[in-house]
Amino acid sequence: MMRRSRSEALFAEALQHIPGGVNSPVRAFRAVGGQPFFVERAQGSKLWDADGNELIDYVCTWGPAILGHAFPGIVEAVREAATRGTSFGVPNPLEVTMAQRIKLAVPSVEKVRLCNSGTEACMSAIRLARGFTRRDKIIKFDGCYHGHADSLLVRAGSGALTFGHPDSAGVPAAFTQHTIVVPFNDTAAVQAAFAANPGQVAGVIVEPVPGNAGLYLPRPGFLEFLSKLTAEHGTLLIFDEVMTGFRLALGGAQARFGIRPDLSCFGKVIGGGLPVGAFGGRAEIMDCLAPLGPVYQAGTLSGNPLAMAAGIAALTALESGEAYRVLEERGRQLEEGLGAAARRASIPVRFNRCGSMFCAYFTGAPVHNLADAMKSDRERFARYFHGMLEEGIYLAPSAFEAGFISVAHAAVDIERTVAAAERVLKRIG
Ligand SMILES: *Cc1c(COP(=O)(O)O)cnc(C)c1O
Repeated sequence: MMRRSRSEALFAEALQHIPGGVNSPVRAFRAVGGQPFFVERAQGSKLWDADGNELIDYVCTWGPAILGHAFPGIVEAVREAATRGTSFGVPNPLEVTMAQRIKLAVPSVEKVRLCNSGTEACMSAIRLARGFTRRDKIIKFDGCYHGHADSLLVRAGSGALTFGHPDSAGVPAAFTQHTIVVPFNDTAAVQAAFAANPGQVAGVIVEPVPGNAGLYLPRPGFLEFLSKLTAEHGTLLIFDEVMTGFRLALGGAQARFGIRPDLSCFGKVIGGGLPVGAFGGRAEIMDCLAPLGPVYQAGTLSGNPLAMAAGIAALTALESGEAYRVLEERGRQLEEGLGAAARRASIPVRFNRCGSMFCAYFTGAPVHNLADAMKSDRERFARYFHGMLEEGIYLAPSAFEAGFISVAHAAVDIERTVAAAERVLKRIG
């Protein structure tokens, strides 16, 4: 067994001061049992916990670490920016550079506003869609997570699923009565939702490749269908690319699938590991934001110079496109290796992958939506998770989370992972 005494002591202490010992619920390992470990240091594809154990990391801080941990260009940019002050509260040049970089990569974004998290980005995009269209209702999809703002916390994927209460206490029913939830990949359900709410739907918000209930892909034509239908109804199509943006391609899922949404939300990768969010889209819509228009949105630390410096360094490293080639190659290697290991162990596994995002569901049936994902054998996943952890491989501590590969994951990391999976799958079969 790996020594974890320091992590255990830290967690015992944390429990005294922080609810559940964690500052974000999935970190608590409730879905897999046991206790979280504490990380002291990270570099490239690896984490080192408080007891000195080395782990290959497939969580990548839930997506942002696409270049690997402590990427030199980002570390240097943050160090340099910090010497000039950590926050100004007045415009700084890096905000302009960041906005230009996002626009260059994502053509549907004509104007963009920076904020501090993906939650803020989605919450603000929804408010903007409502303000612009002067309509109240929004449509979201089962299992898609758009942050923890009240009106979006309905059937919202992993965190909520894991804890068995899909809606949070403390959210008045009145706050979510304008949120319509339909199954992903179900065109008839979307049509029915529009038919039942004529002229009332402000926006359809969607993770173009949902990665918060594991990972499943849009069926061919589904995103095109959403694009066409929303245009017909004067409804805004909002792509929540907080996870997929700058990960599936420099231009995100919308570049990969050739869709032009009205609004897009970003976060994670664009912050290079610092707290950043952004939302942007058609200028006509974005200009409804204060101070130009009536839709209010603000932030003391928005456009923070350290976060901008980190984000710009990350985007600079990604711009050559070489990173995405490497990520695709490693993704394929992992998919092939794990698939073969599962077959040899005679364990039914559905390995869904899109570029460097993946999820192994313990089920024999294809997974296209939340209902399919729920068929995954959670108990088997928990044994797999702990088995892998003992082997020095850190997967997300829930059967309903996507895994992430970084550019720093070398072919040999993937080989080690596949070899470990082979041993673990045989043991738990
Ligand atoms: C992570 C995530 C969010 C929320 O972002 P935070 O920075 O955690 O607030 C929103 N949408 C999607 C798709 C995400 O993956």
